[in-house]
Amino acid sequence: MAENLNPFLIAQQQLDQAAEIMELDKTAHAILREPMKSLTVNIPVRMDNGSVRLFKGFGVQYNTARGPAKGGIRFHPKETIDTVKALSAWMTWKTALADIPFGGGKGGVICDTKEMSERELEALSRGYIRALGNYIGPDIDVPAPDVYNTPQIMACMMDEYATIAHTNNPFSVITGKPVEVWGSAGRKDSTAMGGMFVLREAAKSNGIDLKNAKIAVQGAGNAGMYAYLLSKKLFGAKVVAISDSKGGIIDEDGIDEAKLVKAREETGSVTGYEGGTKVTNEELLEWDVDILIPSAIENQITGSNADKIKAKMVLELANGPVTPEADNILHENKVFDVPDFLVNSGGVIGSYFEWIQNREGYYWTEDEVYSKLDAIVTRSYDQMEATRSKLKSHGKNVSPRVAAYVIAVERVADAMKFRGWY
Ligand code: GLU
Repeated sequence: MAENLNPFLIAQQQLDQAAEIMELDKTAHAILREPMKSLTVNIPVRMDNGSVRLFKGFGVQYNTARGPAKGGIRFHPKETIDTVKALSAWMTWKTALADIPFGGGKGGVICDTKEMSERELEALSRGYIRALGNYIGPDIDVPAPDVYNTPQIMACMMDEYATIAHTNNPFSVITGKPVEVWGSAGRKDSTAMGGMFVLREAAKSNGIDLKNAKIAVQGAGNAGMYAYLLSKKLFGAKVVAISDSKGGIIDEDGIDEAKLVKAREETGSVTGYEGGTKVTNEELLEWDVDILIPSAIENQITGSNADKIKAKMVLELANGPVTPEADNILHENKVFDVPDFLVNSGGVIGSYFEWIQNREGYYWTEDEVYSKLDAIVTRSYDQMEATRSKLKSHGKNVSPRVAAYVIAVERVADAMKFRGWY
């Protein structure tokens, strides 16, 4: 039977698996299988040619037992309510695993940013905030950037919120802002930086020497591009492959930074890279490397290609790149697959730091941000591995993802219990 790739179904399956292992209370399980709040809005936008187009947007607050909903807003032509629901569930587990005082939420708009002018995009962003303005706020729901979204858009959204909320201090309503409007030092690359700290720990415990490691990165957005730059800079690792939505390139001598920048500037895609071998995104995933870093979107490693993955380790920098069927295959094949909601938690942890700084009106240095980030993700990694060992000693041989789920779900369930929700 073909694998069902509906992301929300996948998120529920993952929860069910953890619930069974940890013998989760049935009522808590039922609450955690569904989002608490899920909204659909239609946003009219005046386009440059004078016509008005209607865009569909979503806002989901999955669970707020541990604090305000937190998560990014995705702009994607294939956005669906189920993708946003799944991503909001994953945010709930992400903030719980990191043990930061937030719940999980997510936003999304069906749109193709590549076909829109800057003015149209700004109008859409402001329209989104007007539509959902009553449901967000520093103590309610704190959005951030995600796929095809930028710090500039966050600034516009914050500005729109300032008007709605009649405030000159709107900064803590949204994170991932440019530093000029009180974004945090280090937030821009905090997703990839957190992933690099996790990579360092995972390499250590799996006996991989990063200096001699070959890496493939799928995706060249904010997460993928910084993963490429940082794995070279921090560890001297050799990144031999990188891709974007148009395809990928391989350079066994290591992708040259100057050539990569030139390709993106001149052709708008990494595929314009001079020399090297052109590959598809599918081929890149199956390339013979030590570490594979999927940094694009969900459902990239599935039941149909998981067996062909040659990497010893998969570092999930994207949200949801590995399906449950693939998860089982990788686990059986002894590929160490580090789950998304740990690997990319640096993004929301950076956002947490930004929110604290905005509320206090006192700002930290980049070094302070990175060292605090390192402490949190390293703690999460250690807790995940400790839980995995504990489960193993009880005869339960689970993947890193399941161990991380057990920790996160327990934290959210405990908060609900103390609050009297069940
Ligand atoms: N969009 C990022 C994520 O998926 C960051 C979310 C945030 O900073 O709130 O984790």
